[in-house]
Amino acid sequence: MKLIDVHVHLLPDNLNARMRKWLRKRLNSEISINMDAEEVYWNLKERGVEAMFNLTHAVDPVHTYELNKWQEKLKMKHPDIYTFGSFHPSSNVNELPALFKRYKLNGLKLHPGVQRFLPNSEKAMEIYRVLERENKPLIIHTGYFLDNGYLYTHPRFYSELVEKFSFPVILSHMCYECFEYLEKYLDRRDNVYTDCSLVMIREEIHSEILGRKVRYMPPSNDFLERYSDRILYGSEMPIVAWDPWLPLKNLLELDVSEETKKKILYSNAKKLIDEIG
Ligand SMILES: [Zn+2]
Repeated sequence: MKLIDVHVHLLPDNLNARMRKWLRKRLNSEISINMDAEEVYWNLKERGVEAMFNLTHAVDPVHTYELNKWQEKLKMKHPDIYTFGSFHPSSNVNELPALFKRYKLNGLKLHPGVQRFLPNSEKAMEIYRVLERENKPLIIHTGYFLDNGYLYTHPRFYSELVEKFSFPVILSHMCYECFEYLEKYLDRRDNVYTDCSLVMIREEIHSEILGRKVRYMPPSNDFLERYSDRILYGSEMPIVAWDPWLPLKNLLELDVSEETKKKILYSNAKKLIDEIG
């Protein structure tokens, strides 16, 4: 089975260790896998992943250059990796075009929950305007986030991004529990995609922040069929506290058409790569 994984976090060793520590603390559970970037890459390749999108977001502005440089090296070694680089919203937005050029980045990754900015703030709009000019794709976290719930990432904060811009945008994690927003956004613009990482693990996980369980669940089969051209597969490797192949297993077991599964697992991402590569 041919796969393209659009949500992978290959990181330098120091930041990989930091992410693992953070996740262990937040979920209060052991992290099942402990692999460095090369091990993750080869693990994915052995399972049939033809290409992958590697996502790095600068938790702190000081990491921007280090991470983008890392992405550039990774891409040189493995041309089947598409790099979604780092930029921190508190940095000067005029530096962004030079980062794309210098590190030959394929696109940008933003994480409003980690970087603590609102996706509809003026700072965010400035970044989107650069992406529009450069015609670079964006992958952006949407929905629940372990550190701060829906504070920065409630799906309602993304309507300006959808309404006002035309560059390809991937709304990660299908907006979690708020599929009605995702539905509205996918209907509105055809440059909008979503990845099903995290929601395909099919679990309810207790949230300290919200004081309730959060549903890491996919939308209905009808939803998946209806938007089958716009959904992409993502594993979140290696920042996972479960069997990393569980999302794939759950996807293959869905009662949806083989055509829909093929589109989600491979052809939609392939089309996007042809557009952005
Ligand atoms: Zn992620």
